Amino acid sequence: MTVPPELFDSHAHLHFPGFDDDRDAMLARARAAGVRRMLTIGTDAATSRDALALAAREPGVWATVGVHPHDAGESDEAALADVERLATEPRVVAIGEIGLDYFRNLSPPDVQARVFRRFLAFARRLGKPVIVHCRDAHAETLAILADERVDEVGGIMHCFSGDVAIARRCLDLGLLISLAGPVTYPNARALPDVARFVPGDRLVIETDCPFLPPQGYRGKRNEPAYLAITAARVAELRGEPLDALARRTCDNARRLLRVD
Ligand SMILES: [Zn+2]
Ligand SMILES: [Zn+2]
Repeated sequence: MTVPPELFDSHAHLHFPGFDDDRDAMLARARAAGVRRMLTIGTDAATSRDALALAAREPGVWATVGVHPHDAGESDEAALADVERLATEPRVVAIGEIGLDYFRNLSPPDVQARVFRRFLAFARRLGKPVIVHCRDAHAETLAILADERVDEVGGIMHCFSGDVAIARRCLDLGLLISLAGPVTYPNARALPDVARFVPGDRLVIETDCPFLPPQGYRGKRNEPAYLAITAARVAELRGEPLDALARRTCDNARRLLRVD
């Protein structure tokens, strides 16, 4: 039996209730598939607390804390302050996910922007990188990232959904680009070009599980073990051996997040 290459899932929601029934088995499947390191992502005060609790007890799992644009409207000052308090814990290695989502617009755009800016400024004071969520809001997101000097802390544009021109602007801002399951879809639009364009030292990969399963698992719950499918597709698009792609994306995530 060949040993699968080591992978880093740079964006997962392992602490979400969808995994409550089989979390240990899911983590075991991840490790068996080579996914030895995972970043579990908070989206509001409660899920940030859960993310930290999971990271505290699971080797190879680190947490982020933040307020997702969907949750920005529902988060009062006490909730935002709670997230900031959690952020100082050593097992919390980045701030996020934060950003703008004009696709579903579950929070008013001005509230999304205010919360996004607040956490970008906070991340800069704290000296931790950021995990950015952006859907149908590239112009505004890039403008805010530049304005809040994201290059001082760095970060990841997660589940990248733009084209090569937008990818170039993200790279200019000092961000890494993360590709998720959609790069494996037959209708992946600009993503294959993006996969070929991003320099090897600026690329990471993710599942965003339980959401966005790769081709072959669409309509099902996603989990970190399926990261191998996305890794294989990205390596194929780049004309790169899977081992090399795995090592580089893993090194890039470890360097940004400063984890072993
Ligand atoms: Zn997201
Ligand atoms: Zn997410």
